Amino acid sequence: MNWFSNLFKKRNGTEHHRLPQVFLSNTLSGNKELFVSQKPRIVLLYSCGPTVYDRAHIGNLRAYVFSDILVRVLHEAGYHVQRVINITDVSHLVGDGDEGVDKMALGASRENTTPLAIAERYTKLFIDDLRELNVDTDDIRFPRATDYIQEQIALAKTLEEKGFAYRLADGLYFDTQKFPGYGKLGGLSGVRMEAGARVEVVKGKRHSADFVLWRNAKPNDLQQWNSPWGRGNPGWHIECSAMARSMLGQEIDIHTGGEDHIAVHHNNEIAQSEAASGRTFVHYWMHSAFLTMNGEKTSKSLGNTVYLSDIVAKGFHPLSLRYFFLQAQYRTPLSFSFDALASAGNALDRLWKISNEIAKESKLKCESSEAHNRFLAAIRDDLGTPQALGILWDSLKSEEYTPEEKMLLIEDADAHLGLSLLSPPQVGTVEEADIPMEIKEMLAHREAARISKDFKEADRLRGDIERSGYHVDDGLNGPVLTRTTL
Ligand code: AMP
Ligand code: ZN
Repeated sequence: MNWFSNLFKKRNGTEHHRLPQVFLSNTLSGNKELFVSQKPRIVLLYSCGPTVYDRAHIGNLRAYVFSDILVRVLHEAGYHVQRVINITDVSHLVGDGDEGVDKMALGASRENTTPLAIAERYTKLFIDDLRELNVDTDDIRFPRATDYIQEQIALAKTLEEKGFAYRLADGLYFDTQKFPGYGKLGGLSGVRMEAGARVEVVKGKRHSADFVLWRNAKPNDLQQWNSPWGRGNPGWHIECSAMARSMLGQEIDIHTGGEDHIAVHHNNEIAQSEAASGRTFVHYWMHSAFLTMNGEKTSKSLGNTVYLSDIVAKGFHPLSLRYFFLQAQYRTPLSFSFDALASAGNALDRLWKISNEIAKESKLKCESSEAHNRFLAAIRDDLGTPQALGILWDSLKSEEYTPEEKMLLIEDADAHLGLSLLSPPQVGTVEEADIPMEIKEMLAHREAARISKDFKEADRLRGDIERSGYHVDDGLNGPVLTRTTL
């Protein structure tokens, strides 16, 4: 390769063309687009993180499994992904419109401790949950908002100096009317500005879409810092703009979050970042749809939350939840129920067993098949996880492919979907010592029922044992127990 062809390659972006094509839905344009990174083979990715005043519920976790699939797809296509998820540990009002409760203070008073102790506890639990769901957290940076207060102040100061902010009695506000195209994400420009013009929320606010950059401290605020505007704390939106800028730079490739963040939080991030830098903040905005329960969004305030720990306590393997999520494409709302989770768990269990059998049958050398190409095309088409799972199942059940072809598909499916297909948790015969006491009791009652020929009762107990994740067979030397889910 000589200098001329190197230069030619750079100018014409052929570096990109040598990587497989990945298509992503971009909320900014409203279209599915071919992904092109700014720098060859490098992706800068920022995902809005949780407010760590409580456990993340399974709705929150859906948002991070979605971004994990995105990272895997880009990584497998040959990109190096630099990834940040911020941790909101600052005491501020996290309602969209400068209202709402101070969640960190709420958590601290609930557990009779400090906001930082609360943050520490729930950050750890959040990262543990991600790990249990096979999200590779080693490659993610998790910056804490409290470690970036000076960066947030500096950004707010720049906005004030450039004429995008004004002071009110309770703090510094962003002037949305100074930012042309405010509300462009999700095509909300006109809607937000018109609706805003009619409603006056905070006294002195020039427009109701204007939002706080820095709020003056109230006497009993647990967390407060010095700033050019006096003691106080940063607004919620400035946190993401400042942290994305500090960790990844002024222009990033992809920003993800749940769809609830489109209208306000992400439009405000764009306004702050672009007003300060004069550059495009994010090239691809991606949003995942809600997880619902009985037709409503799962949320702490609605009180219909389920946690990963609840799922594990009921005897499901955490990856059953991951499989359940992948059955829907990330932009489709998904309705959660324990029955649906049980079906997902059973399907994953079967997939583990089939993968295990194929691994034993196939020789060392793996071969590519036409199904394999279809799998890759599906997952690279806006993360088509349900289609990809369908192709995987059809191919593994089909007689058309050799074990070696199936094995290569399993390997690639594992890399893209993260379902531990190559190293499934032990499913099979259970050692005596590992049988939980209540299962032992059910087994003993069932044996007694069988001996006294009460087969109805024996069957009822077998059903109970099945529902607890075990299967009982009557062997020559007594009952044999196997685990069906882990
Ligand atoms: P929060 O801590 O509320 O900022 O939420 C963290 C992430 O979870 C954000 O990206 C939210 O959009 C997302 N999220 C919150 N509730 C749900 C839900 N019910 N379903 C899917 N995503 C959600
Ligand atoms: Zn954010």
